[in-house]
Amino acid sequence: MSIESLYKSRNLCILGSTGSIGKSTLDVVRLHPDKFNVLSLSANSSVDLLFEQCIEFNPEHVVMVTKCHADQLLERLKQAGEVNINVTHGVKALVDIAKSPSTDTVMAAIVGASGLLPTLAAVEAGKKVLLANKEALVTSGAIFIEAVKKSGAQLLPIDSEHNAIFQCLPMNVQQQSVSCQLAENGINKILLTGSGGPFRTLNNDELINVTPEQACAHPNWSMGRKISVDSATMMNKGLEFIEAKWLFNIEPEDIQIVLHPQSTIHSMVQYKDGSVIAQMGNPDMRTPIAHALAFPERIESGVEPLDFFNVAAFEFEAVDFEKYPNLKLAIEACKNGQAACTALNAANEVAVDAFLNGLIKFTEIFKINETSVKKFVSERVNSIDDVIDLDARVREFSDSLVASFIENVIDKVKPDSEDVKR
Ligand code: NAD
Ligand code: MG
Repeated sequence: MSIESLYKSRNLCILGSTGSIGKSTLDVVRLHPDKFNVLSLSANSSVDLLFEQCIEFNPEHVVMVTKCHADQLLERLKQAGEVNINVTHGVKALVDIAKSPSTDTVMAAIVGASGLLPTLAAVEAGKKVLLANKEALVTSGAIFIEAVKKSGAQLLPIDSEHNAIFQCLPMNVQQQSVSCQLAENGINKILLTGSGGPFRTLNNDELINVTPEQACAHPNWSMGRKISVDSATMMNKGLEFIEAKWLFNIEPEDIQIVLHPQSTIHSMVQYKDGSVIAQMGNPDMRTPIAHALAFPERIESGVEPLDFFNVAAFEFEAVDFEKYPNLKLAIEACKNGQAACTALNAANEVAVDAFLNGLIKFTEIFKINETSVKKFVSERVNSIDDVIDLDARVREFSDSLVASFIENVIDKVKPDSEDVKR
């Protein structure tokens, strides 16, 4: 098959097309109308943006989470004279577009464990799956990887660190996918870089009062709000640690985290002869997206090349686990097994959401995560049903912890107000 005909068969399903990764994916696709065809799109509630994407990319099928939003979108499309786009809603509809026989490539860019079922459906259907939705892998681990092995799906990492690691591996290892044997190929460590987020230079006692807006103002990357908070707590690096274990079939002991505040080196692979291979570039997700979309070819991404004469000097630091207790918790969860990882992911989603909504303090995210992991660490997780069941129970428990923090705050306020009355 010629490269041109290979690209023409790249019918894309973009799960989460209105998010940060989804939009960057469409930015790359926009540069290559001859190579990719947008077959299906999906969003949670952004009717306006999904409508604009429909007008520009003319997909066959779009999915919204709720019927109410799907109806709104359908109405807008009708008014614009677009009557050929099929609009549906709900998880089953997401699963259907992901595994549709017409779909070649699925960009898994829904945020959180909500992306698990459609991403897994794409894997089980043997698609080329571009994985941004790290929570799907973290929450299901070996079950997800077994599905990749069974179906022969091609799993390509979008997370910039994992995409960088992938690019630093020898071609034969890249082809082995999730069954790769790093040690046999002379690799003895993966060096996972992280910027340290917006609070790296704050004192630890200043963290209690940081706001959602400050947490979402990442120094180098522009991202969705959940992953931005995860970057500020470094839970994102913890989720990436677990993601790396599964993607590269590597033991936790062989993954090392290196703080690199400039985010120019996106991660590195250390070989036993002392060589370290790094992948570099401007911090822009269009690079890993273009890499994975075109793999094994290379295409333009729209990202400027690195300007070595004006780039900030590279710095490297060890991680301060007192500042980033969530990262330590995630590394421990990775060693403790699937229940710990599933519980950690679910608790963190609840805690981050509560923080973003002003219900809890930044430092309470860790307390909710730690308490939840402790409670559920010994559960058994052998199937996707177990994952879904545990995820739901952890969310309920974490919600109750959020409620207790809120009550605590109210209790603390009460005596003062009574004092005032007296
Ligand atoms: P985002 O919040 O900007 O976008 C999320 C997308 O998912 C949106 O399209 C939203 O409509 C959709 N969505 C949200 N909740 C949903 C639900 N319940 N059901 C179906 N769809 C839903 O997030 P993002 O920053 O684009 O991140 C997406 C994923 O990619 C996350 O897993 C994140 O960890 C990962 N990732 C993001 C970046 C980045 O730079 N943004 C980098 C690496 C990895
Ligand atoms: Mg990343």
